[in-house]
Amino acid sequence: MAEDTGRIPQEKQAEPSHNGPLMKAGIATIAAFCICSKCPTYPDQKDPKVYCARGASPLPIEIKGCLCPDCPVQKTLRLKRMNYCYYGSNRQLKKEES
Ligand code: SF4
Ligand code: SF4
Repeated sequence: MAEDTGRIPQEKQAEPSHNGPLMKAGIATIAAFCICSKCPTYPDQKDPKVYCARGASPLPIEIKGCLCPDCPVQKTLRLKRMNYCYYGSNRQLKKEES
């Protein structure tokens, strides 16, 4: 079976195209709290995580769950979505839904 890699390459990794300096500073701050590296879906290879803000991973993603609901960032920012590594950043998803 072909591997489902989520977003097509040109749609992946919202950074740097739409993440400005403020967003980058925010990402650096919340990276310490991101728990993606403990998630079974995390693609590893030192992918810099914080997908909810940074955008989908450029690596193939096989969804095996999502720890975002337990993440302090998700709770603090009152985010509701999951599997950002696959679907893209909260901002991007919100934009697509509007
Ligand atoms: S909500 Fe998910 S992607 Fe965002 S910082 Fe937390 S674990 Fe990482
Ligand atoms: S965004 Fe969710 S599914 Fe993806 S690695 Fe982080 S916790 Fe896991």
